[in-house]
Amino acid sequence: MLRLGNKYSHLVHNVGCGCHSPEIQRASRRLEEFSRRGVLFGMAATALTVALPPAEAATAAGSPAKTLFSHARLFDSVAGTIIDNAQVLVVDNLIAEIDLTQAPPPQDATVVDCRNGVIIPGLIDAHWHTIFAAVPLNLLLGADSGIVFAASTAEAGRTLMRGFTTVRDLGGPVFSFKQAIDSGLIPGPRIFPSGAMITTSGGHGDLRLPNEIPREGGRLSGSELLGGAAIADGIGELQLRIREQLLQGASQIKLVGGGGVSSPRSPLDMITFSEEELRAAVGVVSDWNTYIAVHAYTPGAVQRALAAGATCIEHAHLVDEETAIMLAEKGAWLSTQPFLTMADAASQSGSGIERAQQIFAGTPKIYQYARKHGIKTAWGSDVLFSPELTPRQNIMLTHLSNWFSNAEVLQMATSGNAQLLGLSGLRTPYPGKLGVIEKGALADLVVVKGNPIENLALIENPQESFALIMKDGRVHKNLL
Ligand SMILES: [Zn+2]
Repeated sequence: MLRLGNKYSHLVHNVGCGCHSPEIQRASRRLEEFSRRGVLFGMAATALTVALPPAEAATAAGSPAKTLFSHARLFDSVAGTIIDNAQVLVVDNLIAEIDLTQAPPPQDATVVDCRNGVIIPGLIDAHWHTIFAAVPLNLLLGADSGIVFAASTAEAGRTLMRGFTTVRDLGGPVFSFKQAIDSGLIPGPRIFPSGAMITTSGGHGDLRLPNEIPREGGRLSGSELLGGAAIADGIGELQLRIREQLLQGASQIKLVGGGGVSSPRSPLDMITFSEEELRAAVGVVSDWNTYIAVHAYTPGAVQRALAAGATCIEHAHLVDEETAIMLAEKGAWLSTQPFLTMADAASQSGSGIERAQQIFAGTPKIYQYARKHGIKTAWGSDVLFSPELTPRQNIMLTHLSNWFSNAEVLQMATSGNAQLLGLSGLRTPYPGKLGVIEKGALADLVVVKGNPIENLALIENPQESFALIMKDGRVHKNLL
């Protein structure tokens, strides 16, 4: 075991004045990077530079370059065990050392006494909608985009305060919003963006208003102009719309393979893209070294996506065992959600209630199949169009304890989900390790008061239980 000491001092520069703080330097480095990405992003970056508020800069200037977490227990998210009497040294935005010898702290480190709390990796939600989670559908369809982004900005801060330091965004106009978070302009989680969810006419995600049907020429509907959805019929259009998302920085592509719960006009049993279209989609994302995540509930929709070469299926609550076995045999990821009761789907009304009940009936089956057949399973909450539901993100995670041990639940939301994020390969927005506490990993950490492996309910009450939240080496909450 390596000992801590002044040997780490070369890793960081002095932080005497605010303008040299790592936060500010990182922010300006990122802004420079944005500006290199073209005229459009250059303009956005300039706006961000000008807009960085003084309060933000002051906080950043006070951030220490080295933080030592002492008197801690660590959750080993790979082994699923707790390591006692540990210290973790964070330098800049990386975990620099894990020490079990109680070595004295480096001279210039800020020491945080964890008081025997358990450090877990920052939580990862594999199916989130950054822009649409906190906006009711009627507001989204009728309102100015200003209110939509204001609601999303407030929600992004709350998401981070619930311990979620990374989300995989599966549909929404999130590209410049992600830049605002990454540059330090607003607090929020890391975002693996998909951009617009891509559907055929009539599929889940086709939110056109009656006066937008029929489509005239290439005219885009309101939700398409906002960047929430892209409607594509035929291979050429599908390739175009996928490439447009990749051009804007998508780390993966979200395709709608069938009907949905919160889309009254797209029945759950319907299928959207042909196998030929799906194959073309897989071809485009393979050329970009990434993958498609296909929204599919039924055996027919899931089987077609798998046959076309899809490596990640979203939902799948209505599949039969034969289809589950195909998922396992193909080695595809199942990214699903433990929807149990109407409390988890309170935003539904009308036909959505009956559809949600079909999903509740399927939930225990899909997790039983996942266990029985060893399907690679990721967890997500998929909160959509409901500010009342977003605070239940953590409860959606602890629902998994119906089928998994406490350690397995936390593994799924950390190292497991991070493995799924790895499918983005060269398109990852955040090179580095996520979901683990180990030397060299990105410093996304949550200090829990108590041991969540013994008492998973601690996760449900982040306001009380999460004593400290760090993302990318920066402390966003500290009660210690
Ligand atoms: Zn979703």
